[in-house]
Amino acid sequence: MLDYVDLEADLSAEERMIRETAREFVEDRVAPDIAEHWLDGTFPTDLIPEMGEIGFYAPNLDGYGLPGVSETAYGVLMQELEACDSGLRSMASVQGALVMYPIFAYGSEAQKDEWLPKLGTGEAVGCFGLTEPQHGSNPTGMETYAERAGHASDDYVLNGSKTWITNSPIADVAVVWARDRSTAEQSVRGFLVETNRDGVSTNKIGEKLSLRASITGEIGLNDVHVPAENVLPDVEGMKGPLSCLTQARYGIAWGAVGAARNCFETACQYARDREQFGGPIARFQLQQEKLAEMATQITLAQLLAHRLASLKERGDLRPQHVSMAKRNNVRMAREQSRIAREILGGNGITADYSPMRHLANMETVYTYEGTHDIHSLILGQDLTGIAAFD
Ligand SMILES: Cc1cc2nc3c(=O)[nH]c(=O)nc-3n(C[C@H](O)[C@H](O)[C@H](O)COP(=O)(O)OP(=O)(O)OC[C@H]3O[C@@H](n4cnc5c(N)ncnc54)[C@H](O)[C@@H]3O)c2cc1C
Repeated sequence: MLDYVDLEADLSAEERMIRETAREFVEDRVAPDIAEHWLDGTFPTDLIPEMGEIGFYAPNLDGYGLPGVSETAYGVLMQELEACDSGLRSMASVQGALVMYPIFAYGSEAQKDEWLPKLGTGEAVGCFGLTEPQHGSNPTGMETYAERAGHASDDYVLNGSKTWITNSPIADVAVVWARDRSTAEQSVRGFLVETNRDGVSTNKIGEKLSLRASITGEIGLNDVHVPAENVLPDVEGMKGPLSCLTQARYGIAWGAVGAARNCFETACQYARDREQFGGPIARFQLQQEKLAEMATQITLAQLLAHRLASLKERGDLRPQHVSMAKRNNVRMAREQSRIAREILGGNGITADYSPMRHLANMETVYTYEGTHDIHSLILGQDLTGIAAFD
């Protein structure tokens, strides 16, 4: 595996073990069928509990049966999952960083006791509802709202619709972000909405040409009653969803490196094996330049991911750091997967090899969790002090 500057040497024994476990799981249980799942537009749902048992969901959180591993261990895990497919890493990212994290950080003890153990084991599946049909890059404009069910009632009634929601069609619970119209401020609040409640619909979005091995859907909310105890008590405003996105983007910054690494390894092997003009194409300087550039860009992205982990461990990680890494590492993976595809010639456009699948996946990864443009604006604001969002 490409590790040009020996970052492996800095891993602890536990981090190495987690990386090995993830790599073996991916190779034995997922890699053999991933191309078929991608072509069929399905996710291997039977593996969801197995992934939980091994500890793939929010292992960097502590308590409630969660192991509290290091941020580097969490990062290398995301890297190994995405080396297989972005859909696999998305499953772990959504479950861990977008569903378990808000419950862990902002939930009541009852919510934590109820949901964290079963989400951690994969007995339950969660999804994160922020994006709406008319509000993607600017979720602050959200129209989904909650109102008190009546003067004498503490219950809420939710109305609105969310779209592009990873796992909504298979989720047991959705973390829904909505404006609370019962207060003067109309603050954004997080609601835990069981998907079997009356008025909830979770239609699947079909015909995606990217992230095909991942289930994506909508969340329709039509007069959905939820008790007051389903509100996340400890957060109000956009800080709630945005802080979850920072957690998930951290995992993406690592994961994208895994996808690019897998593309590099596939292309490098192919270049050695494939013969044209009387010998392997790897002997051509043009191909070597491409491989040299790929290895360099992947190594730089790896270094940035490792640095992010150190900052996160010591509590100095800012959302803007994560924006820089998500923006850079995903762009890198998008560009390098295309070069890898190119090295594979005609075979590169088939599902027999991973680069084209990774390339197509990267179109989603480039767009979700803040588009590349939005992360440019976040960095621009941080560097100049001037916001250029509108
Ligand atoms: C497969 C998939 C899974 C997803 N999973 C989830 C999920 O689980 N939960 C969830 O809540 N969301 C999810 N999303 C939604 C995702 O986060 C949004 O697609 C993303 O935020 C972009 O929003 P949009 O698609 O509405 O694009 P828009 O916001 O309409 O943007 C369109 C284009 O305009 C650009 N743009 C927007 N504003 C500006 C600006 N101020 N300056 C310059 N350019 C700008 C964007 O960069 C982009 O290129 C998912 C998306 C996909 C594709």
